[in-house]
Amino acid sequence: MIIDSTQYNGPCSCGYCHEMATKEAVIEPGCLKQLSRYTRKHGLTGKFAAIYDENTYCAVNMVRPQADQEIVLPARNLHADEKAVALVLRQLDKDVRYLAAIGGGTIHDTTRYCAHSRGIPFVACPTAASVDGFCSTISAMTWNGFKKTLPGIAPILVLADIDIIKEAPLRLTLSGAGDIFGKYTALADWKIAHALTGEYFCPRIETMTRDAVEAVHQCCEKLSQRDTEAVAQLMYALILSGLAMQMMGNSRPASGCEHHISHLIEMEPAALPSHSDALHGEKVGVGTILASEEFHRIAEIEDITSCVKPYTFLGESEIRSFYGERLWRSTLEENKNDCMAGVTAGKLILTWPQIRQIIGEIPSPTELTRLYSKTGMKSSLEDMGIPAEYLPAILKYSPSARNRLTMMRIRWMIDA
Ligand SMILES: [Zn+2]
Ligand SMILES: [Zn+2]
Repeated sequence: MIIDSTQYNGPCSCGYCHEMATKEAVIEPGCLKQLSRYTRKHGLTGKFAAIYDENTYCAVNMVRPQADQEIVLPARNLHADEKAVALVLRQLDKDVRYLAAIGGGTIHDTTRYCAHSRGIPFVACPTAASVDGFCSTISAMTWNGFKKTLPGIAPILVLADIDIIKEAPLRLTLSGAGDIFGKYTALADWKIAHALTGEYFCPRIETMTRDAVEAVHQCCEKLSQRDTEAVAQLMYALILSGLAMQMMGNSRPASGCEHHISHLIEMEPAALPSHSDALHGEKVGVGTILASEEFHRIAEIEDITSCVKPYTFLGESEIRSFYGERLWRSTLEENKNDCMAGVTAGKLILTWPQIRQIIGEIPSPTELTRLYSKTGMKSSLEDMGIPAEYLPAILKYSPSARNRLTMMRIRWMIDA
């Protein structure tokens, strides 16, 4: 499978002229062997350095491209942080003209940052279908202990070698499927925000993301058998979702309330003192089921008039006691210019029939749970080591983790 950016670039019915930074994505068995052919095609010449970690350097089926320089980062305690960046920049030859990230999310974020700081392009060579961030334009880093998004660049080219990716630890692949199923609620949130406030919406981006999710829905049961076609389909969807974010200029099409649930769990607020080792896509996948269950329940209400109250953000003392000393100030700061400003009870009542219809497009929690269990994915809070009694708090407080209009935030206006 090949994704050619010219298919999606250009003038669009949404009013914008879309332009992706990534020119081409190749999702095929053995494509890493042809790295030099593809780099030549895209005008990359001169000395290049390949960045690995110790695991990806020796990954099953890995055929290492002939690089002028190889940098292999230690796998133990490797994070996309200032230490990993220093390790790369210290070793990197001065005359290197482009980089190749050969690994997972951490290697990509580190390489993306280093390429940006050197002012040179990079090629993304993911070794696992675990997340949709390979084509991101920003680096998700931990800088001196704090999670930050720092400047980076998008890869000019993606080479996703399915021979390598299908042999990655199965848990990574299933986590990637969780990140993809999260698009069901993310797209619903985007459409609902558009219906309620007129927020910018692009049907081309919506369709490309939805098609990618549906394709994975059809074949995901074969992921656990490391089926080449199914893994390629998943990788295709993850890359397409990343490109949709490039077209959009932000993560709106790919990240909604289900990602906020994942963020909240990761933040470990004071009132939910439970650490989970679950991977990003596992948390997103479970968040999708939890959100689907709650939304379908609320959508059963045909006339919402008697349940709607004016919007208010959570009280400062409530935020303080839920999040604790470490997090409460930054949470208030995040929500300062509230995304729900201007959403009135009357407007919500008026838009309700449309919102119910959009919720109807999200697969039911029963369908998702059945699908996850057939695929071997985690499907509940308990599966991730989080007590089930946290559920009401997770539903209530997760919208405050990010200031983005979602159905979960609208729920604050609904007594039901
Ligand atoms: Zn558009
Ligand atoms: Zn994600």
